[in-house]
Amino acid sequence: MRIRSFFALLAFLFCSQWLGAQSFALVIHGGAGSVQRENLSPARDSMYRAALREALATGYGILDEGGSALDAVESVIVYLEDNPLFNAGRGAILNSDGLAELDASIMDGSSINAGAVASVRSIKNPIKAARLAMERSSYVLMVADGAEQFAKDRGLEMVDPEYFITPARREWYKKAKMKDERGAGKILLSHPVFGTVGCVALDKQGHLAAGTSTGGRGLKRYRRVGDSPIIGAGTYAEDGVCAVSATGYGEYYIRGVLAYDVAARMKYGGLALQDAMREVIHHKLRDMGGTGGLIGVDSEGNVSMDFNTNGMFRAYMKKGGEAVVKIYGDE
Ligand code: ASP
Repeated sequence: MRIRSFFALLAFLFCSQWLGAQSFALVIHGGAGSVQRENLSPARDSMYRAALREALATGYGILDEGGSALDAVESVIVYLEDNPLFNAGRGAILNSDGLAELDASIMDGSSINAGAVASVRSIKNPIKAARLAMERSSYVLMVADGAEQFAKDRGLEMVDPEYFITPARREWYKKAKMKDERGAGKILLSHPVFGTVGCVALDKQGHLAAGTSTGGRGLKRYRRVGDSPIIGAGTYAEDGVCAVSATGYGEYYIRGVLAYDVAARMKYGGLALQDAMREVIHHKLRDMGGTGGLIGVDSEGNVSMDFNTNGMFRAYMKKGGEAVVKIYGDE
């Protein structure tokens, strides 16, 4: 009898482990900010939703076929970097000199390895450079012309800085620059730009990964770098805990180490993902006076998307489930 129950227990443990490892999930954000129905035309609303759906499909396909969380995250972010709707890659917001200046990072939860590039102006897909930094260098973060040289040496596609500039961003830049010169930098606060992209995934093998890519803040100067390429601030992944990607006012995320803080609350405080994220966004970030959002997935495939702004472009899909795509705060 005792032997029988021992084997039953073994079988149960094996099955639950196996079934657990088979589940997978993918979460995406396209930036948090002051996004309200009255500011987004129905046509643009549908364009954003279609883009998020397509990005989800890209990542879901990889995970469904048994691909890695890391590959899913990279492919989703490449798609979003190439899509001019978002503030990453082509279509990124412009800095004070009228150029796109891009930051990106990626983290592999299974090895606790990470890579990032910051302040780059000619790498077509900064997330690919971040992954190469992780896998083909002994560094985590490279910046500006050094990061560009590294990407070139590793054979990544390089582009003319003009490639990133869309007519809509140029138009925005002209107006913003004029107002900025009159209003001494106030536009940065009165018109926060959203559209940073991020993705987190859990694969069938139970591994977690996270990535984030952005053009940062509009009209930024002095090669300002935000949280997106900073591991622990804008991106974090650790197998057995969670994968997190951030969007929002980067200086607060850096000071609060917010992506890692979600993982720490889960690891040391025993909180569930949703509760950890709620604490970080609605207490810690709020008390610091910052705004933004986070997405996350835990090692069981639970997902969370939280923010303290009016909205956040966001979407998720779990194994066998429907694609869930949302923009506004009341959805
Ligand atoms: N977090 C990004 C930064 O501060 C911007 C954003 O997510 O909107 O560079």
